[in-house]
Amino acid sequence: MESTDFVLRGKKLSLISQLREQGISDENVLHAFEVVERHRFIENTIFWDKAYVNCPVPISCGQTMSQPITVAFQSQLLKIQKNDKVLEIGTGSGFQASILSAMGANVYSVERQIELFRKTRTLLTTELHIRNLSLFFGDGFKGLPDEAPFDKIIVTCGAPDVPTSLLTQLKVGGIIVIPVGDGVQDMKRITKVSDFEYQQESFGEFKFVPMLSSMVKGNKGSF
Ligand code: SAH
Repeated sequence: MESTDFVLRGKKLSLISQLREQGISDENVLHAFEVVERHRFIENTIFWDKAYVNCPVPISCGQTMSQPITVAFQSQLLKIQKNDKVLEIGTGSGFQASILSAMGANVYSVERQIELFRKTRTLLTTELHIRNLSLFFGDGFKGLPDEAPFDKIIVTCGAPDVPTSLLTQLKVGGIIVIPVGDGVQDMKRITKVSDFEYQQESFGEFKFVPMLSSMVKGNKGSF
């Protein structure tokens, strides 16, 4: 092993032990954090030292790659089974989508900003060759009716409420994990018990960039 690989591996394992200490016990989630290299998702080199630190990192278009504990926590709440069909709203850097793919899910991810969509598509498909992943440019409030139904849905931006369209696109027995609220969000896990019945649990406060409905088709510049 090269010495640089050795240092990188040490940092990664230290982050994984922090995730364990903070309550992540799903071995599939922890294994995905070993496999997926977070530094590859950070475009701006000034933030490279934050790749294996438990903090959020700015990405293009004024957006944020969530803190590792948030990514791990949402992934754990989803109770991912191999080959689950998962819809993600808010592709952003593609890190969360890559974690879910490494966990064995078939991921369908939607992003509303064309610039981010294009950059991340190039990274995930051409450079990283992430498996079982389809990326879409669109408005996550609408979900992906043509690809529905999904076993699981994850929203990685702060939603004003739970969009009915997303609940409709969930299979019976399926789970949606969604941070709901303005400014600060309450992490909710909703299980679709039947076509008309849902069970809701709350998992505390988180802070996400907002879920916005209009699509951004122009290049607004980075950072
Ligand atoms: N999962 C991402 C998190 C990025 S931040 C990651 O791992 O990096 C949240 C993302 O949600 C941003 O890229 C933002 O542009 C996107 N977003 C906000 N509202 C959206 C909507 N209505 N539809 C799709 N994406 C949306």
